Amino acid sequence: MQFAKPLLAAFAATFALGSMAALPAHADLDAASLKQLIETSFESEYPKLDALYKDIHAHPEIAFQEEKTAAKLAAEMRAIGFEVTEKVGRTGLVALYKNGDGPTIMVRTELDALPMEEKTGLPYASRDKTTWQGRETFVSHSCGHDIHMASWVGTAKALVTLKDRWKGTLMFIAQPAEEVGAGAMAMLSDGLFTRFPKPDVGFALHSGGGVFPFGHVGYTVGVRSSHADGLFIRFKGRGGHGASPQATIDPVMMASRFVVDVQSVISREKDPLEFGVVSFGSLHAGTTGNVIPDEAVLLGTIRTFKPDVRAKMHDGIRRTAKAVAAMANAPEPDINITEGVKAVVNDAAVVASAEKVLKAAFGDKLGVVPPVTASEDFSEYVDSGVPSMFFNIGVYDPERVAAARNGGPPLPLNHSPLFAPVPKPTIQTGVTAMTLAVLSAFDQRAKGQ
Ligand SMILES: [Zn+2]
Ligand SMILES: [Zn+2]
Repeated sequence: MQFAKPLLAAFAATFALGSMAALPAHADLDAASLKQLIETSFESEYPKLDALYKDIHAHPEIAFQEEKTAAKLAAEMRAIGFEVTEKVGRTGLVALYKNGDGPTIMVRTELDALPMEEKTGLPYASRDKTTWQGRETFVSHSCGHDIHMASWVGTAKALVTLKDRWKGTLMFIAQPAEEVGAGAMAMLSDGLFTRFPKPDVGFALHSGGGVFPFGHVGYTVGVRSSHADGLFIRFKGRGGHGASPQATIDPVMMASRFVVDVQSVISREKDPLEFGVVSFGSLHAGTTGNVIPDEAVLLGTIRTFKPDVRAKMHDGIRRTAKAVAAMANAPEPDINITEGVKAVVNDAAVVASAEKVLKAAFGDKLGVVPPVTASEDFSEYVDSGVPSMFFNIGVYDPERVAAARNGGPPLPLNHSPLFAPVPKPTIQTGVTAMTLAVLSAFDQRAKGQ
């Protein structure tokens, strides 16, 4: 996941204005004293978490190859007392901890890294390589999924330490292949919610790049990330000599016109207040300058937040492509829109309950953030009927973040080869925020809210 850069200003404004006045602590959960307890336990656990984080960081594994990573997490969770099932959804893990009658609360981490070279120069930087889609590549945890794994283990430990404060079942899942948008579905198809209890509430966190400092937590109410659909279009023309275009039907002309015209679906058909983007990352036609080719192929991505905007954009894109072909007197183009990862929508009641506790614990270091235009397959669990909350934690030193906001050196965001969270305060933020969020959900369900 990645924050879009323009959001930086909005986020800075949220925190700078201190727009949320301190709310009273949750009626039953004393967030401030719980935070203290969590932080004290974290302090004694941290040397182990630090070693785990740096080991996973130095030895990342890519989508569906995460066998060693999963084995490391399985060992940690068994040591804490969880019952662990391995190889769910190929390389995924399900870890359960039963503590009396009560709801099942799910906490998810990702396992996978990215096929890219890390250039941070950190002593624990990854130099590992793997084979990915037939080619050798470096691998790195440049999206912070290693931070999420360490926070996940730390949260499990904190919740077991605090087990007299809640009743129910913890369902900690470690999901493969988030970066390719396939891991959540792999776990669900492998019986995640049938072989194991279907959770009453779900949580996940993501490290938030350079947008806000460590110690800070950001969340959204409602839509949190985008629908991501793939687009394939083949314009079919009739090839010939570049000097005699009248004897051809030029697919390069069609593709060029389409790339420009389709943006009017965004600017004229869609409500300007609604988010929607169509971008083309690949356009292929022909082999040389003086031959008009037979066809042109475009690959693109469509991002939206809302289903009705999504449907309108799909319709507009199809209509524009067919119209461009009709204008050129060409056959109908091949159009294939593949519906990918859906938007993550945070549940209002789950957020409201967690918000009270997090606000009491984090004060003005908790802020509402705008949704991100990137996508995330945590939506699969939400769509399967698990009311959920997905939130973000800061990863960088507050002074560096302030300097970046004031025109200083920009901070590397997720997916940058220079992405380098500060481990201890970042993992501490993750553990504290996630533990409190889970406790808020147990409390909410216990009250029947
Ligand atoms: Zn990512
Ligand atoms: Zn990510």
